[in-house]
Amino acid sequence: MLKYCVLRKTFPEREWYESVVENMRRATDDWSAACGVQFEHVETADDSTSLRPPEVVFPVRHLDSGGRFIAAAFFPNDPENRRRVFIDPSYQTTSFDRVGVLRHELGHAIGFRHEHIRSGAPALCPDESTEGTVDLTQYDPQSVMHYFCGGVGALELDIPELDRVGARKVYGPPLSNFNLLAA
Ligand SMILES: [Zn+2]
Repeated sequence: MLKYCVLRKTFPEREWYESVVENMRRATDDWSAACGVQFEHVETADDSTSLRPPEVVFPVRHLDSGGRFIAAAFFPNDPENRRRVFIDPSYQTTSFDRVGVLRHELGHAIGFRHEHIRSGAPALCPDESTEGTVDLTQYDPQSVMHYFCGGVGALELDIPELDRVGARKVYGPPLSNFNLLAA
């Protein structure tokens, strides 16, 4: 269970905080429906005076990056002080699906790298080291972890079937499957 909070006082507008809370709920539900990961929003930590409330694995907070990113996350092996999700002001006006942006960032938080750095991706896409990565499925231009580049990728940032297959190899099937079996 990955506990998180949304630090209310970091957001300049109340509506921004509320939309991030709602979009995080939908994005985490989508990952839990895709594979065996579960998240919990610890609402009591949203009003914490700390930027790193001890009762959560990661906080989500507003940060003006000057447009360097729409949102930014972390990897599971990052040190504890890097476990956070930043939301830039450009998140409010992006043409990407806003739940999709969080699906993408949460994909990083559970260990997934960018799909477009793999062989088979258009050469126009930005490159990163693939050291330490494992290919879970064949290359998927529609992956939630694919940038919108080289004529492929998707603004919706949905979690397509190949991503589900890959995620289940790491985390097993959605836990709701077990609940249904037990019912
Ligand atoms: Zn990314």
